[in-house]
Amino acid sequence: MKTPEQKTATEVAPLIEAGEAFRRLSGLASPPKRERYDVIVIGGGQAGLSVGYYLRRRGLRFVILDASDRIGDAWRKRWDSLRLFTPAKLDGLVGMRFPAPPNSLPTKDQMADYLEAYAARFELPVLTGARVERLSRRDGVYLVKTGDAELEADQVVVAMASYQHRRVPAFAQALRSDIVQVHALDYRNPAQLRDGSVLIVGAGNSGAEIAMDLRRDSRIWMSGRDTGEVPFAVSGLAARLFLTRFVLRFIFHRLLTIKTPIGRRARPKILSHGGPLIRTKAKDLAAAGIERVPRVVGVRDGLPVLDDGRVVDAANVVWCTGFNPGFSWIDLPVLGPDGEPVHEGGLVAGAPGLYFVGLHFLYAMSSTMIHGVGRDARRIVEAVAARAAAALVSSPGGRAKGNQSAEGARAQA
Ligand SMILES: Cc1cc2nc3c(=O)[nH]c(=O)nc-3n(C[C@H](O)[C@H](O)[C@H](O)COP(=O)(O)OP(=O)(O)OC[C@H]3O[C@@H](n4cnc5c(N)ncnc54)[C@H](O)[C@@H]3O)c2cc1C
Repeated sequence: MKTPEQKTATEVAPLIEAGEAFRRLSGLASPPKRERYDVIVIGGGQAGLSVGYYLRRRGLRFVILDASDRIGDAWRKRWDSLRLFTPAKLDGLVGMRFPAPPNSLPTKDQMADYLEAYAARFELPVLTGARVERLSRRDGVYLVKTGDAELEADQVVVAMASYQHRRVPAFAQALRSDIVQVHALDYRNPAQLRDGSVLIVGAGNSGAEIAMDLRRDSRIWMSGRDTGEVPFAVSGLAARLFLTRFVLRFIFHRLLTIKTPIGRRARPKILSHGGPLIRTKAKDLAAAGIERVPRVVGVRDGLPVLDDGRVVDAANVVWCTGFNPGFSWIDLPVLGPDGEPVHEGGLVAGAPGLYFVGLHFLYAMSSTMIHGVGRDARRIVEAVAARAAAALVSSPGGRAKGNQSAEGARAQA
């Protein structure tokens, strides 16, 4: 019998169905009303599934809760033409390679299906359609409210990228009502916009890629600060040799981390300004006739105003102004004034037993990327297991209750 790691790519599709059956059999199709777990993982994307992979190996009793209807929906709901900028050889999570030629760039739907197959292969207990509405703590136990279920856990891992909610400036409300406004999170294809010119606000990767997707007869302006670009085409030969090895594996994963002086210096800048353009280049934008303009700073007579005082008569505005994790449902004193959690590499000093995985530059520049999330997941699960083991040692009552899952963690810690 093959281990999950040994199964081949062609065996992936039936695993999705097997996973559904598993979820039905294990009763995970609907949440138990009250249940106690060693660990609850909130978020079932690549970050939550990677955490699940390591928790399973530790023998801890856990569940992964995800708000979406289907595993992989975060990817499925991105714009139609989106392909990953990382090659398939970097798009596999721990234990299962991505089933595509190593240098090909998968579509967003292939990535979504891969995640679903991953959960099935490792029989990860994912409960979909379970949005967590409140995370709190009472008498040292975490309480997780989803729908009419209140679940308890000794430890909680919040596993999700920083891209959950739209960040749009307040002055967007003052735009004329006939201007069509769409945020990058809701953008699917050009048909959502009305005829006429488009102002893309935000010049990061999403802005640049959506600008290229929109290429049309009318004018397109792209406003915002230049964040630089990686100096080669991601699908070219140089990228195969250079992007993956040097930029993604070395610079993003090893050099720019919270453990290196250069990483610590770069982190605040990267968090506030965004990283370089990866796929689309300034020359691609220029060749497509997309005009770069300064930042949008407000609204005058219902129209956007640029930093240099110009007013832009745009028929459509696409907000590529970023995201935030939207952690208002976390009812614990762990969020800073900007609403972002205060943590050190994902460990929260203010709430022992609470962890984050997947956030932008959590530990390294690669933390939010597919090839970087596994290392963070492993590190966090090590901390989870150590805490579970310590709790077991200091609480003979826990052992008497037959807490075998925590015993398992202790054996492996
Ligand atoms: C447009 C775009 C393209 C990208 N392309 C690449 C690429 O090519 N290569 C690469 O390495 N990285 C890429 N990334 C970065 C990263 O890989 C993705 O953002 C990825 O989706 C992050 O996975 P995640 O699991 O951390 O978070 P998500 O995919 O956002 O998953 C989080 C999950 O948590 C769930 N959730 C949220 N709130 C709650 C709640 N309150 N209760 C329960 N569940 C909740 C959501 O439903 C979601 O399923 C890209 C990002 C974007 C935005």
